[in-house]
Amino acid sequence: MKEIDWSNIGFGYMKTDFNVRCTFTDGKWGELEVHEDEYINMHMAATCLHYGQEVFEGLKAFKGKDGKIRIFRMDENAKRMQSSCEGILMETLPLEKFQEAVIKAVKLNERFVPPYGSGASLYIRPFLFGISPQLGVNPAKDYLFIVLVSPVGPYFKGGFATTPFVIMRQYDRSAPLGTGKYKVGGNYAASLVAGQHAHSLGYSNIFYLDAREKKYIDECGAANFFGIKNNTYVTPKSTSILPSITNKSLMVLAKEMGLTVEQRSIPVEELATFEEAGACGTAAVISPIERIDDFDTKISYVFSKDGKPGPICDKLFHKLQGIQYGDEPDLYSWTTVV
Ligand SMILES: *Cc1c(COP(=O)(O)O)cnc(C)c1O
Repeated sequence: MKEIDWSNIGFGYMKTDFNVRCTFTDGKWGELEVHEDEYINMHMAATCLHYGQEVFEGLKAFKGKDGKIRIFRMDENAKRMQSSCEGILMETLPLEKFQEAVIKAVKLNERFVPPYGSGASLYIRPFLFGISPQLGVNPAKDYLFIVLVSPVGPYFKGGFATTPFVIMRQYDRSAPLGTGKYKVGGNYAASLVAGQHAHSLGYSNIFYLDAREKKYIDECGAANFFGIKNNTYVTPKSTSILPSITNKSLMVLAKEMGLTVEQRSIPVEELATFEEAGACGTAAVISPIERIDDFDTKISYVFSKDGKPGPICDKLFHKLQGIQYGDEPDLYSWTTVV
């Protein structure tokens, strides 16, 4: 294998040796299969192609100083994928099967797990979709589950730093009673135009408000929001956001650090009162926010004047990364050593 420059790979697809698959046919899940082929042969009328029957997950494996590989909170991803499947009438995969497939995919592609210290990790993408034909709008009878992996570089190449976000009321990602709380491909299709618009204006991503009233904060791009003030970690409670596992973990760590944690509606104007703010998700852990510009009112909410993350964002980020790489004690059994 050609030497990989681990610290300079981005967040892109890199071919690895194997992917792991499992098919649901005749009303039952089959055995796990190992494939080298990156392609799938599927019926042209498959429901995933026409009616968006597709759900996915995203998690990571990390190589520690001790040489061990740790997968972060995969039981949570397994449960969330079941919830997503139920949300769009797809067959759910048993939790053990999900975890078995993830471990297998990581072990088989062990040589692609980036070394400790590179800041890189192995991204794991489990996904499940309807493969049998339907022309009427109906769920598929058969399903395919695949786990692919790809090494990804450090999210912050120049070190942990802040970026600007923008509120734009002309776009919604999901409706209050819609599919926003599920990790389904359709939500991403619905966000592409908004994301590109925000990027073209120089922002790292768009900030969505609740679709009904446009009064409360929902999510930033494909990450949850949190704000810090008066020693309190505040994150939105909403029926249209994806329950982030990173956010869930940060809430536990914030409490451990002595912060109060509040999960409630956050009116846009409250942004002016936060001392720090961040977007959180598997890709970056925390992407600290420099400022949020309101495209419509022209108000700018500034959280960092020097491009540096605030002290609490910094502490939370290093604590969570420390657990993932095995540098910090794993008090909550969040990691699985493979
Ligand atoms: C995946 C995702 C997140 C982050 O979830 P994590 O479990 O922390 O990776 C946040 N918002 C959306 C819309 C997502 O799809």
